[in-house]
Amino acid sequence: MTDTSLKNYGADVFSEKAMRRHLAKDVAAKLAATMKEGKPLDPSIADQVAEGMKAWALSLGATHFTHWFQPMTGGTAEKHDAFLEPAGVAVAINRFSGKNLVGGETDASSFPSGGLRSTFEARGYTAWDPTSPAFIKRHENCATLCIPTAFCAYTGAALDMKTPLLRSIQALSRATERLMEKFRQPKAHVCVTLGAEQEYFLIDREFYLKRPDLLQSGRTLFGAAPAKHQQLDDHYFGSIRPRILKFMHEVEQRLWRLGIPAKTRHNEVAPAQFELAPMFEELNLAVDHNMLVMEVLRQTAEENSLVCLLHEKPFEGVNGSGKHCNWSIAYGGRNLLSPGESPRDNVIFLTFLSAVIRAVDLHADMLRAATAGAGNDHRLGANEAPPAIISIFLGDELSAIVREIETGRPGGQRAGAAGKREAFKFGVDTMMPLPKDSTDRNRTSPFAFTGNKFEFRAPGSSQNPAASQTVLNTIVAESIDAICDKLEAIGGDFDEELQKLLQRLIRKHKRVLFSGDGYGREWPKEAKKRGLPNLKDTPAAISPMVESGNCALFARYGVFTPAEMASRHEIAAGDYLSRILIEGKVALEIARSMIYPVVADEFSRLAAAIAQARSDALRFGVKGLKHLSLKLGAGLDDLDLKCDRLEKAIARGRSAAILSAMDDLRKTADRLETLVDDRSWPLPKYREMLFVY
Ligand code: ADP
Ligand code: MG
Repeated sequence: MTDTSLKNYGADVFSEKAMRRHLAKDVAAKLAATMKEGKPLDPSIADQVAEGMKAWALSLGATHFTHWFQPMTGGTAEKHDAFLEPAGVAVAINRFSGKNLVGGETDASSFPSGGLRSTFEARGYTAWDPTSPAFIKRHENCATLCIPTAFCAYTGAALDMKTPLLRSIQALSRATERLMEKFRQPKAHVCVTLGAEQEYFLIDREFYLKRPDLLQSGRTLFGAAPAKHQQLDDHYFGSIRPRILKFMHEVEQRLWRLGIPAKTRHNEVAPAQFELAPMFEELNLAVDHNMLVMEVLRQTAEENSLVCLLHEKPFEGVNGSGKHCNWSIAYGGRNLLSPGESPRDNVIFLTFLSAVIRAVDLHADMLRAATAGAGNDHRLGANEAPPAIISIFLGDELSAIVREIETGRPGGQRAGAAGKREAFKFGVDTMMPLPKDSTDRNRTSPFAFTGNKFEFRAPGSSQNPAASQTVLNTIVAESIDAICDKLEAIGGDFDEELQKLLQRLIRKHKRVLFSGDGYGREWPKEAKKRGLPNLKDTPAAISPMVESGNCALFARYGVFTPAEMASRHEIAAGDYLSRILIEGKVALEIARSMIYPVVADEFSRLAAAIAQARSDALRFGVKGLKHLSLKLGAGLDDLDLKCDRLEKAIARGRSAAILSAMDDLRKTADRLETLVDDRSWPLPKYREMLFVY
């Protein structure tokens, strides 16, 4: 029987309930205010908080603590220290001080820094992020207290994903407060929200261990397409197999203990592909939670003799995996991207909506840069993922209203419904409620309005969502500020002036709005005419990170200094080339040491059989044997040639040439896979990996 009481929900989190039990009342209240409202923490309470946290962690069996952070490797990092401290000969006590809690010093020299950390100053610092609660990680026979922290260099330069994210949340909060003041709204707390839908593949561990490409690069570099994969659409939302369901249940039990609101589970489009979606949360917490979701998926898979593949494109020819980032802004608990009931609420909604439209049009390149990476390159622009062109989908109803604002004339369905009437008027008209299902129809758009939030679909399944969310927050903050600046410069009737302002804004930026088929052949041509960037691979996509205008923007909002931007560009470029080089070398090794010998064996077996048949003067069979041996012989020559080409490309170290040589080599190998004796093929095949579990 499962425990349905939910009493374990958040049991491994230093929650308000745990704080009340382990901290003095005033200390708990101060910490809660810091956590909820982001108020600076009173340093004098750090020791007391640490003492309470320690008592709580010990009660749950933790022997160690760690500052848990998100370096620029894309993953998370932790270094454990025992609470244990010797107090004499063969005597020890458990100690954990405010100093241990608040900050840590760590050797930063082995983390990517993109030139930010000079060699003589290898120290890095971790600083407690009190807005994300501490939690316990359980292992088979032990437990560790994890303290979410930011990670920076001696100079204060950010070396992680969290620091710029927190800065960007602050920038967006300030801009939002400024605009809400213009609407004469009472002061309230701004909360940026994220719901990150996580896609992933599961395959049996036995197969995984026999695939050096999966083991080393996270994706299959060879593999002929199976006759049946996803053509019949019979996997999506299909009934979940028992082995998978057992896995999902274990994942959820763990996530719920960590206070992670895993809500939805289902089969995805591709065979062996699945999705986990949590309820949305405050952005910084949601990012920490997504990093934990990925870790729990991987670990739980391992315990079930499965492997969880988070790579964006583990299998060629079937759908890849994304991480749809649902984003919105709440003000005092009210969602600003939800059209309201009153004319005033609608004006606010349309203003924020316009700010997003302006931001995405002006800075599509930076959004694209934030989703770049060797894995995601196989997804963006392929026919099952959003294109590399960033555009916005609004849905019919909202598009009609935006058009009315733009033209000042009533139009389309709205005109039909209301007969003769005037165009939408700010401060007077209310909007019809937006039906969510119709706004959600277009799955080919990278940036879609889905009723009360924007869904950014370009981020890849393995990526830390902080990267794209940091950019989104910053560019929207800038747009909101630009609107505020204009509003301050004009007098007259507020609603009328605002309507004129947004009319101009939409006219200027409407080129980014697109409701058509994002997978269609026409769209790239149309997008080019509109002047929208189409940055197809990582080297092109990350180049805007070092453009002076972009550097100035992120510096102005205190999110990245130009040096931090340059370092991130360097890390992204280096990471990309390293991954391509690894893939190239693995492909070469597999082709030469696994595939070639098997094909050569089969070829010589055939040659011997042909010779034997001839000497026995057999009347039948020789023709077939010869036919196959010709194909295998040509394949062997081809394989040899293409391996040499790949080797040369690797030696030159040019990513584009390596990728194309790998592609070419793969074509030959995949053809041979369909010709060689199934029993001797050295790699588990797609039809096994994707269907046997
Ligand atoms: P889909 O149709 O794409 O599967 P869902 O309605 O299931 O969409 O929601 C997807 C995600 O959007 C969920 O994680 C959900 O919690 C999140 N979401 C809903 N409202 C908001 C919001 N205001 N801000 C951020 N995310 C939200
Ligand atoms: Mg979705």
